[in-house]
Amino acid sequence: MYNTRKQFLEKECELAVLPVGAVEQHGSHLPVGTDAIIAQEIAARLARRLNAYLLPCLSISSSIEHRESKGTVYLRSDTLALVIRDIAESLRYSGFRRLIVFTGHGGNWILKPTIRQMNRDYVERGLDMDVILIPSNISGARQGDILNHVQHDLHAGEKETSIMLHLCPEHVEPIVPATAHTTVPQDYMDYFDVIDITEDGYWGFPQEATADKGKQLLDLMEDRSIAYLEALEQERRRINALKTR
Ligand SMILES: [Zn+2]
Repeated sequence: MYNTRKQFLEKECELAVLPVGAVEQHGSHLPVGTDAIIAQEIAARLARRLNAYLLPCLSISSSIEHRESKGTVYLRSDTLALVIRDIAESLRYSGFRRLIVFTGHGGNWILKPTIRQMNRDYVERGLDMDVILIPSNISGARQGDILNHVQHDLHAGEKETSIMLHLCPEHVEPIVPATAHTTVPQDYMDYFDVIDITEDGYWGFPQEATADKGKQLLDLMEDRSIAYLEALEQERRRINALKTR
């Protein structure tokens, strides 16, 4: 974001990283910008590792499932799809050839089919451009080595609270204890607002969060993202080699 026109001209850079966050309620203990703060951190780490152009976070995304809570601001999912298309298109037009999208918000489901379609559209238009999606659950099963709860810890729970305790403890407020854990299926968010199926807007186990777990989780997310990108690149080379035979 602080690079000048001259710096872009001098530096051969064809890779950009876009963090996508959310502005949505995260209970009484975490700020509405939690997903944006986490996405920005991971994207910054990836951009550093890959020597890529780090874009400012697209903070407002698909959070309609939290709209009953004041402070939540959201785009319709179709709007988010169009925004991602425009961002990728403007990057491609000025010379970028690859865009990595890291989403810190699990509710941005629309990104997956959108990016799947975009990559096919680029092929059909004969354009040299790829868009790669890295989801917030990239840490996968290995986060079970760090967290006490890998299941039913969906929102502002042990994972996100741990990361926030590591990144910005000054923004973590006291947790309001829940009398019972939310046990309905995750896809009930398709029908109900999160504040109607939870007691304080969080869904998980924030009481078990620690800053040390947060540090370990961020390191794991960074390493898993890099491993994913390397594996993808390897597969791309293998397929291209077969095609050019
Ligand atoms: Zn979140």
